[in-house]
Amino acid sequence: MPAFGKMWIAGEDVEGGGELFTARNAATGKKLEPAFREASNEQVETAIASASLCSTAFAATDPARRASLLDAIADSIAATGEELIETAMAETGLPRPRLEGERARTVGQFGMFAESLREGEFLRVRLDAARPERLPAPKPDLRLQMLALGPVTVFGASNFPLAFSVGGGDTASALAAGCPVIVKGHPAHPGTSEIMARAVGQGIAAAKIEAGIFSMLQSAGPEIGMALVSDPRIKAVGFTGSAAAGKALVTAASARREPIPVYAEMSSINPVLLLPSRLSSGAEEIAEGFVASLTLGSGQFCTNPGLVLVVNNSDCDRFCSAATKAVQARDPGVMLTAGIGAAYATAVEGVAARNGVEVLAEGCSASNRATARLMRVGAARFMSDPTLHAEMFGPAALVVSCADIEEMRAVLETLEGQLTVAMHFDAGDHAAVSELLPVAQRRAGRVLANGFGTGVEVSPAMVHGGPWPASSDARTTSVGTLAIERFLRPVCLQDFPEALLPPALRDTNPWNLPRRKWA
Ligand code: NAP
Repeated sequence: MPAFGKMWIAGEDVEGGGELFTARNAATGKKLEPAFREASNEQVETAIASASLCSTAFAATDPARRASLLDAIADSIAATGEELIETAMAETGLPRPRLEGERARTVGQFGMFAESLREGEFLRVRLDAARPERLPAPKPDLRLQMLALGPVTVFGASNFPLAFSVGGGDTASALAAGCPVIVKGHPAHPGTSEIMARAVGQGIAAAKIEAGIFSMLQSAGPEIGMALVSDPRIKAVGFTGSAAAGKALVTAASARREPIPVYAEMSSINPVLLLPSRLSSGAEEIAEGFVASLTLGSGQFCTNPGLVLVVNNSDCDRFCSAATKAVQARDPGVMLTAGIGAAYATAVEGVAARNGVEVLAEGCSASNRATARLMRVGAARFMSDPTLHAEMFGPAALVVSCADIEEMRAVLETLEGQLTVAMHFDAGDHAAVSELLPVAQRRAGRVLANGFGTGVEVSPAMVHGGPWPASSDARTTSVGTLAIERFLRPVCLQDFPEALLPPALRDTNPWNLPRRKWA
């Protein structure tokens, strides 16, 4: 089914009652049909009230039932057909293979969380038996399980219109945890949001779960998002986007009478460290892989490799000249929105104008498209100029030439938190890697050997997060099964009789969960 200009509130396809807005074709800039209306205040209230009403019952559902729910949503998303892909292509400018792959990934994410629910580990059940005979005081019976936080607001991301938007990883992990979800749709892809919301809603209906657990509100301005984050019935927030918006949401959430967690995935420049022995044997090969990763999806990946650290020698020159040739050959790329294109141009010009920065290469250019850029600066200048540490969201990177490994380590130490650090090395570099790895682990959520961070595997062992500003909470991840923990908290029941215990904590273990026991 195509987009009709609607949103989704607690099981119903509805037209917004607020301001009119239209998406634009990312490639041509032309207005797209249909137009949409933002949610009215009453509609925001209906979505929150519906989520709040079913929150306790949904949190208490059997994990196997929630697993069937996630499977039903996955089937529904898999059946969205051509309309989803064509609408997303027009709204985002992303190519068909990327969007088809992203839909498969989105379906896979729901499947992964369903499997995790069936395994039951996520509830972390702990049973610590009573010892009435203990002296000097008897020991109580203590039973712990993880409980859902309550309704969650998810902000759809512009750069992953399927896998990190309406039915993306934040929504899947919150529903898996037993939390109702209200998505604040991204204004750049309202048609994609509508089709995805309908698919999620139909999956919920097929699984015969209360419709109030999911709504998607169309919105083209900060007000609705802020109203959701500020409402006392909302208990957590998932966000992917700019550091400015992420910080505004964290501030608003912590200023509430009851502060709530905001899991914001924001900006990262994903340093790539090229170590001398490996570089001497493969400067050209690495340059090719690097530029392919840099320009993938017009560089609009949170894991885009925007910084290269390299020891300044003739192999560094070989790398720079091969990367220069590769960048110069790159076609300009369509950006997700005119605003993101303009922000990219401003960021690149800002870096290029800084003292000591040399522009090595510019890709091909065309109006309405982003031109790839490669720039270079010395380590001392880089370390003393915070402007050079900021994300250039698009296909641009800065090469930092370091005197030696010690200086490379110093540069790494000065960086803010990152999603990824990649190291390219061979056996001749092991001593240097041993020195750099502890620093890299302190700086990033994921450290790669001989690869690039673009392409985030959906896996139980994945970490997609990192210290601020890569994310607002480095203790967790937004990709992989651990993402569910963002929306759970531990609760202990002390000395309750078997008949009153929730199923997960009963001696009879009716849900057949894995449990840790202490006698
Ligand atoms: P954004 O500006 O951060 O917006 C993301 C979402 O947050 C939108 O729904 C937006 O709603 C909302 N929002 C923005 N400012 C807000 C505020 N002050 N209060 C409440 N809600 C707010 O991201 P974007 O539109 O996707 O792209 C803009 C820039 O973000 C890019 O140029 C890039 O630099 C960065 N970005 C980074 C990543 C990454 O993964 N690192 C991903 C995407 C974008 P409205 O637009 O409706 O106000």
